[in-house]
Amino acid sequence: MKKYYIGADIGGTTIKMAVITKDGTILDKWEIPTNHKDDGSYIPEDIHFSLKDKLIELGIHKEQILGIGAGAPGFVDADTGFVYQTVNIGWRNFDLGKILKEKTGFPVYVDNDANLAALGEKWKGSGENSNDLIAVTLGTGVGGGIIANGEVINGVNGTGGEIGHITVIPSGGAPCNCGKTGCLETIASATGIVRLAEEAITKNKETSLAEFSVKERTFTAKDVFDAARAGDKLAREVLDYVMDVLGMAIANLAIACNPSKIVIGGGVSKAGEDLLVPLRKAFDQYALPRTSEACEFVIAELGNDAGVLGGAFLVQQNLE
Ligand SMILES: [Zn+2]
Repeated sequence: MKKYYIGADIGGTTIKMAVITKDGTILDKWEIPTNHKDDGSYIPEDIHFSLKDKLIELGIHKEQILGIGAGAPGFVDADTGFVYQTVNIGWRNFDLGKILKEKTGFPVYVDNDANLAALGEKWKGSGENSNDLIAVTLGTGVGGGIIANGEVINGVNGTGGEIGHITVIPSGGAPCNCGKTGCLETIASATGIVRLAEEAITKNKETSLAEFSVKERTFTAKDVFDAARAGDKLAREVLDYVMDVLGMAIANLAIACNPSKIVIGGGVSKAGEDLLVPLRKAFDQYALPRTSEACEFVIAELGNDAGVLGGAFLVQQNLE
């Protein structure tokens, strides 16, 4: 009898789900909208019914399911599946692991969504089964996951691997969504890059980016990368600064956990070599030469599938 894992990546807008084979092939994947009614309390039920229908459709019996690996956007107790606090979903002290297990009858394992994405990249993506890996997601915010000795670091109360909230500006930094100021996220996210470029333009208007203010739309992080590639000095300076700060933060993490891979994902990672080359240069400046020697920078490969594959791998790890 063929056995399967279920991955569920719970986000603020959609819940991505997948039936995954033991070797990590996605048999089927689908999405359902995230139900925000009553502070998200219907979400476990929605997952249960959607999964039930899907298993009937695929002709898979309950006994063939090894477990559900679920990712939640927030602080999670990975041992119990208890969710302390979330962003974009109303959960606060929500016992997701227990409730989802009761509804579905399957074993349920929960971790932070960015941690699951790191596990997914390790298992089936550009992490190539590295047991020591740092995953950094550069999107609207900065997410992260750290894998050390083969296991994701969750920590004593769920804040392990929250790379985006490392303080990089000790005083006078921009406010962050977490309530602090000067977090890495305020500099190295797509939002941070645009903010820094906008600030730079107020001091120096000799840049192609200034044209955007008279056009219909404002510019994006991609526009800043495009301008830098085309030779725009201001855009280049902004990105050099961002890569310097990000490279230093990653180098400091790398000195702490000595990874073999740094996996960079998220929308900003689409810049590819334009991002990796200056980032690597900055990293090398701050890391120990021996740390740097052992460490490879790669772009994440799995995109939106990283979370569900990480969920499947989490089940596998727990059952082993
Ligand atoms: Zn923060």
